[in-house]
Amino acid sequence: RVLTSQEIRKTFIDYFKINHDHKFVRSSPVVPFCDPTVAFVNAGMNQFKSVFLGKAQPPYPRVTNSQKCVRVGGKHNDLSIVGQDSYHHTFFEMLGNWSFGDYFKREACELAFELLRGPYNIDPSRLYVTYFAGDKVLGLPADLECYEIWRSLGFPVERILPFGCKENFWEMGATGPCGPCTEIHIDHCPTRGHERAKLVNTDRPDLTELWNLVFIQYNRNENGSVTQLPAQHVDTGMGFERLTAILQNKSSNYDTDLFMPIFNAIQKITHAPLYSSKFPTPLEDATLDTGYRILADHSRMITVCLGDGMLPDQNQKLRRVLRKAFTISETIFKNEMLVSQLIPIVIDTIGMAYPDLYNKQSSILELIAHEREVFKALRESSSRAFAEVLMEYPNLEEVDLMECPGFVSAYRDFKIHKETFNNNIIPAKFLFKLTDTYGLTEENFKKLAELENMECDLNGYLKELANAKLRSKASLSDGSSENKLKNQQHTNEALLLLTQKLNYTDNSTKYN
Ligand code: ATP
Ligand code: MG
Ligand code: MG
Ligand code: MG
Repeated sequence: RVLTSQEIRKTFIDYFKINHDHKFVRSSPVVPFCDPTVAFVNAGMNQFKSVFLGKAQPPYPRVTNSQKCVRVGGKHNDLSIVGQDSYHHTFFEMLGNWSFGDYFKREACELAFELLRGPYNIDPSRLYVTYFAGDKVLGLPADLECYEIWRSLGFPVERILPFGCKENFWEMGATGPCGPCTEIHIDHCPTRGHERAKLVNTDRPDLTELWNLVFIQYNRNENGSVTQLPAQHVDTGMGFERLTAILQNKSSNYDTDLFMPIFNAIQKITHAPLYSSKFPTPLEDATLDTGYRILADHSRMITVCLGDGMLPDQNQKLRRVLRKAFTISETIFKNEMLVSQLIPIVIDTIGMAYPDLYNKQSSILELIAHEREVFKALRESSSRAFAEVLMEYPNLEEVDLMECPGFVSAYRDFKIHKETFNNNIIPAKFLFKLTDTYGLTEENFKKLAELENMECDLNGYLKELANAKLRSKASLSDGSSENKLKNQQHTNEALLLLTQKLNYTDNSTKYN
């Protein structure tokens, strides 16, 4: 029998909690109040950052959880790939286990391998593991200990692959805790030989990274050197939707019971043609299928963010995702209420693990209704302005106003200054103004130049942009900003204390 996603999550938690003495700590909200340097919580370790930094005591020596993660913006930005591939989402759940100064490499690898092979019944001949190859320039030794552990667990040498810093060395920031990691990758096509080893870490949908095990053993110092930490920690994260796809014998995360109910609802409500479920998507289905995937993905992200109390007013990235979801609902599925109608379905698919979503449903729906009105009003007023401009300048018809509401004002401004531009080139300073004042992108410049049969001084523009960045950095170092930073630090510390107080252990979920 095929496990449901619900059972798959529970199996993970129970394995660490009941069989291996880990404490279940519930997911923190996706609002990053433990860490103001990111827009969303993007990994299971975020809520334990202060423990790794030595600023807080670990809640327990062994911890497990399933963490709600969002990867939009920042170091891990998956937004642009979402909908195009079968295994990256804006919102996903990360299953994790931690050792804070307790067990280290051997037990971490054993625990992971044993779970995949035993309870999840995955054939080890579908797995590849990676380890850190070392970096001479940075003075980091190869993690041969890890290599030996995988050997002793029965992995053939052809399946234990060395990689460099990019894939297998984890750092919290420019300074601070860091260490090598080992990753478990899984082949969607069961094969006997090891011939697909060369495809590991090449971004293929049929051979994906599943689980990352980080060994935090070093500290990166101010002068760039690394020293051993007094206590060694383990931090792991496995992609829940990827695991579910594997265990439900699906080649795409979207074909699992986490997404199919959302697709079915979209189809039932709008009578759109069925999702084709094929990957790669045949060209004739691309717009529709991508629409299904992005809308389902974004509905999950929106549900979780609004449910955790994040406000689109305060998080522009969330607002952009919401507006994209509205636009797809209207243009592809011809139903402006669709996002709201999907929320209860999304909550049905993940609510068992995050039960407070049930209580939040009505406030989530209110926020969405409000955002829809704001978006609508904005578009109406800009399309009125646009209609006027079209009377004046009919050639603007080919510009996508939805994508760039600032284009109209920018164009008016352009018309005023056009006379002063030499050699049919839009000068760098003016391009910079178009970005700075009206929010135009390089794509928009090209459109404008094309409409007017002109060229853009793009190189000059990039220099202007770099200079502006330098200026804003320099202004950060004056006295008043320093005070601001200090205040920010105080706030962060207060938040940290609060987090520790709340401690995130939960009695309301079924795992406790
Ligand atoms: P990838 O290389 O596939 O982008 P990653 O190396 O960025 O993954 P990690 O930061 O190591 O990912 O996160 C741990 C695990 O979380 C990954 O092994 C993967 O299973 C899962 N994961 C990462 N990003 C996503 C995403 N956008 N959507 C779904 N699962 C993800
Ligand atoms: Mg990634
Ligand atoms: Mg990776
Ligand atoms: Mg990784």
